[in-house]
Amino acid sequence: MNTIISTSLQDRDKAVNWHPYTQMKTADSIIPIVRGKGIYLYDEEGKKYMDVVSSWWVTLHGHSHPYIAQRVFEQLNTVEQVIFAGFTHKPAVQLSENLLKLLPANQEKVFYSDNGSTAVEVALKMCIQYAHNHEKKKTKILAFKNAYHGDTFGAMSVSGKSYWTQPFESMLFEVIFIDIPNAENIESLRFQIKELADEVACIIYEPLVQGAAGMLMYEAENLNSLMRICREYDILMIQDEVFTGFGRTGKLFAANHLSEKPDIMCFSKGLTGGTMPMGVTTCSNGIYNAFLSDDHHKTLFHGHSFTANPLACTAALASMEILLKEETQMTVQRITEQHAEFVKVLSFHPQVENARQIGTILAFDFKTGHGTSYFNEIGKKLYHEFLQRGIIMRPLGNVLYLVPPYCISAEELDFVYQNILEVLDQFRD
Ligand SMILES: *Cc1c(COP(=O)(O)O)cnc(C)c1O
Repeated sequence: MNTIISTSLQDRDKAVNWHPYTQMKTADSIIPIVRGKGIYLYDEEGKKYMDVVSSWWVTLHGHSHPYIAQRVFEQLNTVEQVIFAGFTHKPAVQLSENLLKLLPANQEKVFYSDNGSTAVEVALKMCIQYAHNHEKKKTKILAFKNAYHGDTFGAMSVSGKSYWTQPFESMLFEVIFIDIPNAENIESLRFQIKELADEVACIIYEPLVQGAAGMLMYEAENLNSLMRICREYDILMIQDEVFTGFGRTGKLFAANHLSEKPDIMCFSKGLTGGTMPMGVTTCSNGIYNAFLSDDHHKTLFHGHSFTANPLACTAALASMEILLKEETQMTVQRITEQHAEFVKVLSFHPQVENARQIGTILAFDFKTGHGTSYFNEIGKKLYHEFLQRGIIMRPLGNVLYLVPPYCISAEELDFVYQNILEVLDQFRD
């Protein structure tokens, strides 16, 4: 029998775990979760928390969804993992077929990996080697200022520079950062891109909303214009839908808001409904064909031990089935409409700036006359105030946002709005 009886999960955690994006010295006490159901997570004392950030933007249909659980359980008893070089399996074939059917028609091949960052790494390697295989010297990459594409070295290189990437600065490869397109700057962007076109292999961008930068939103029309310019100058386009995919923007993909088509797309977060880690990079046959050769050197030498894991593929299949149900599509629309109404309310609030929304994503800036350090202070205070109220919100600096699971009811969403208004009044300058 274990002799140490009364050590809490919290203390045991502290003794052994190093948490992400957390200064462990000053970290607040971490909450041990024992179970989840629907939009709620439950701690050891039975206190429940409304997970309106979908546990870092991944949970689509709520926690412990019985249908996904059932399907994964069945797959677990059928085959749990298969080496994906030289072998294949039904969940991977079925998932690729089902996913490609929903994407822009030029997306024709699927490459599996493990998370959003690896999906981005694969996309970047495809573009750089595409040029290499064509014996072209195109090694530069374009990205947006403030971008976030993940935490591995390639993904950090194409992300906006911040104190997150600062220690690694000298080791990151060269990337040319451009402004988000708007009606005013599109001609100067065209000029800039034209000048660079000979050397640039690709552009990578978060379509319509830059998530980690603080839910910064921009117009589809302007992205279409930029995409047309890139097409004109032979620059491959990587559309990072790791966050925006699977209904987040009110349509199945951000791509559904756009008339132009990217060459490559990246997915992760919502892909498995937030059940299992998995990344996907899709591409056109134009890209795929550049790697077909009798010359062995033209192969894409990339892979991960768990590539196309059957359990993750099955979770994704089950999650997409739920997502495509009329019932779910109607809830996504209902959340979109409720958010739109609440944005109107927020835009009149004296503590609020830039109330904005696209589909199920709602965000606003908490207005304060003070500098950026205060922004972080206020973020922390707001986080705790909402936790007290049983709501999980994780402000990005002074930006508050909601990305709820699609199973949230109208009443539950109204409850969250009500609490936001109360907290805003409580923190009035
Ligand atoms: C979260 C995110 C990533 C990185 O995904 P991970 O699974 O955390 O590695 C990449 N791109 C975008 C747009 C993201 O929001």
